[in-house]
Amino acid sequence: MTIVRDFSSIRAGGEVTVSGWAQDVRNLGGISFLTLRGGSGEVQITMPKKKIDPALFELLTKIPRESAVSITGEAKESGQTALGVEIIPSSAVVHGEAASPLPLGVVDKVNAEMDTRLNNRFMDLRKPEARAVFELRSMASSLISEAMAAEGFVGVSTPKIVASGAEGGATLFGVDYFGRKAYLAQSPQLYKQMLMSTGLDRVFEIGPAFRAENSNTNRHVTEFTSFDGEMAWIGGQGEVMAMLEKTVNRVLSGLRERGAAQLEILGRDVEAPGAPYPVLSYSECLEMAAESGLRLQEGDDLGTEGEKAVGEIMESRGHSLYFISEYPEEAKPFYIMEKPGTPYSYSFDLDFKGQEISSGGQREHRIGPLLERMAKKGLDPADFSRYLDAFRYGMPPHGGWGIGVDRLVSKILDLPNVREAILFPRDTARLEP
Ligand code: ATP
Repeated sequence: MTIVRDFSSIRAGGEVTVSGWAQDVRNLGGISFLTLRGGSGEVQITMPKKKIDPALFELLTKIPRESAVSITGEAKESGQTALGVEIIPSSAVVHGEAASPLPLGVVDKVNAEMDTRLNNRFMDLRKPEARAVFELRSMASSLISEAMAAEGFVGVSTPKIVASGAEGGATLFGVDYFGRKAYLAQSPQLYKQMLMSTGLDRVFEIGPAFRAENSNTNRHVTEFTSFDGEMAWIGGQGEVMAMLEKTVNRVLSGLRERGAAQLEILGRDVEAPGAPYPVLSYSECLEMAAESGLRLQEGDDLGTEGEKAVGEIMESRGHSLYFISEYPEEAKPFYIMEKPGTPYSYSFDLDFKGQEISSGGQREHRIGPLLERMAKKGLDPADFSRYLDAFRYGMPPHGGWGIGVDRLVSKILDLPNVREAILFPRDTARLEP
């Protein structure tokens, strides 16, 4: 007897054991069919009434949909099934009988609401198209790690319980840390920058980031996965942009190669890697937004609508991915370097079809200007003293990026909501499952 995990490897002749969920049963009088769905697809269990043990026939034809079961039987050639084989059962073990009704249909054509799907995520993930997203996401993470290793980046893990934030106080989640005030990290920003003074010249991290963001949008969640990179001894932010572009392109081409089966399940194509990505200035984007009838002032955040308007114009020019650079320094966090003599900064966003997926830039590595920026932002250096220490004893010029893996995956796969790319999303309303 052979236990088969990949149903497509079943060959006629001999006994096999297949495991999965009882998807549905069709009774046609003298013969019944059970579709068993495993991780690798479906296999048909064929039960001619007269040839099957009556107790086994009864068990398998009455089995509640979605019960977990292992079935042993003979694999026979069949012209009627996609696999070209069917299984005539001789025994079965029901590991977990499913209650009914089901909280969510697995094969039903009806589209369930996002909330119902997320409340019953274990069942939702039994759908091959829901699972395919996470198989592709896993490939994307591996591709990122491979791309980073190829460029000499060291993978690091920085603390997620921290004493201060870098991205603005309004979005910090507080934690009671043995009577002291602590926070959940909004990003690895401060730590990856400190590492730039150590000789670990290129670091990256894929880890959780938390934002107490009261935004109920299809692109914001309160816990997301951030892929951060930081590199020392740079001559300018162009080197950072080039590295990010190369990495995103490697993810795109890697998914096209490795993810063909999953992409077919989803009925999606992945963008061809395009280089170089166009670079728009923030000011150009304001003009583009104005062309679309939006009234944005210099210094305004482009916002969802502005990003969308720019995205539409760029799409009409054949570009899905593009950088927006030289944001006003005022709109950017304290650690970003200002562009001397201008109101702008050495910073950029990477947008994908009208949505920001990444922010980055050159950091202020000189302690004097860094303290001035903190003062401008109303931050107390005393709250950042351990971070600032790393700038007092020889900090090289450096820069980097943060890119949301959830947003990257949802944009690549053209999913309407970032939550589709997160197994168990957290947002203002959702803390379970
Ligand atoms: P936005 O303006 O879209 O709210 P942000 O400017 O707050 O984003 P950054 O602080 O620049 O975002 O973070 C870098 C990246 O991290 C973003 O481009 C995005 O991919 C991801 N990210 C940030 N906040 C969230 C969130 N709440 N949910 C999902 N991803 C996020």
